[in-house]
Amino acid sequence: MAKTKEKACKICKAVYEGDKCPNCGSKESTDSFKGKIFVVNQEKSEIAKKMNLNSNGEFAIKTR
Ligand SMILES: [Zn+2]
Repeated sequence: MAKTKEKACKICKAVYEGDKCPNCGSKESTDSFKGKIFVVNQEKSEIAKKMNLNSNGEFAIKTR
């Protein structure tokens, strides 16, 4: 069985496996991203603010 590849949502940047984003429901995704961050407290996170993240979870940085 092939390994499921992680991908990043182009809309909200959530990292996920599967056919659509569990965060926003979009199917627009890319597997080209440079790294990931894990946001545990989105309201207090400077990075989350800069990236306009709207929830906690795992997010991709530098998506193409
Ligand atoms: Zn999304």
